[in-house]
Amino acid sequence: MTSQEPQAGPGNAFAALMPRVIAAAARLRHCVRRRNRPDRHLAFHRLMEACGTGMCPICRLVADGVERRLAHLFHELVNDPDARRSLRAALGFCRRHATDALRVGTPLGLAIIYEDVATHALSRLRAVVAGRHADRRRICPACIGESEDEVAYTEGLAECLGEPDMRLVYTRGSGLCIRHLDGVVRRTAPAVRRFLVDQEAGRLSDLIADLKELMRKSDYRYAGETVGQERDAPARAIAKVIGDEVGGMGGRRGGGRSVLL
Ligand SMILES: [Zn+2]
Ligand SMILES: [Zn+2]
Repeated sequence: MTSQEPQAGPGNAFAALMPRVIAAAARLRHCVRRRNRPDRHLAFHRLMEACGTGMCPICRLVADGVERRLAHLFHELVNDPDARRSLRAALGFCRRHATDALRVGTPLGLAIIYEDVATHALSRLRAVVAGRHADRRRICPACIGESEDEVAYTEGLAECLGEPDMRLVYTRGSGLCIRHLDGVVRRTAPAVRRFLVDQEAGRLSDLIADLKELMRKSDYRYAGETVGQERDAPARAIAKVIGDEVGGMGGRRGGGRSVLL
């Protein structure tokens, strides 16, 4: 036994249990994730449809999921004790989702939620001034839902790309952003991995060619040449790397309860 190894004894009983506690927590997270996973056929059709939207299919579906969750919250959960508790503990939405909530929510729903949040913020402030413990701010509930959707659709696409129909639709679309490509590549079968690498190598080569063309035409010697499709190459490159920003969440589908809720 080295000096770093824990000594046996009652003091180390809790430490000895930790690996089992961590493993149990991981199993629980896995079960919860499976329970929240969209129905396989529904996920397949959503992914097929999203591949044809001209943006990263996972970015598209995650944005749609945020939209559905917020619509559901404002239509049905504004007075739900659990929903209110999680929003209160997070002091409302994060900046990004607050912008979405302002667009999707009703004035009354927003007023109810933020009256509660502001009251809680005031009591926290008074607790701090009085030297009392103030609860740590929790994660924005919309961020949690978004993260669950992202994992579910990443795993779903990694699996669905095993189907020839899905690969065909993927070929015709604009592909995954690099952020989501990394996640799918890590979870998928070797044959699908090779397919994705071939696909995205082609798309990235075209993008690089457009960026180089824009750089070339920035040279005064070629300034007289007409600017073509390379004009928006920097914006396309940014979207390819970090994902598509769904400004205004255009092209939204029907509201209602998210299957992931
Ligand atoms: Zn993406
Ligand atoms: Zn958020």
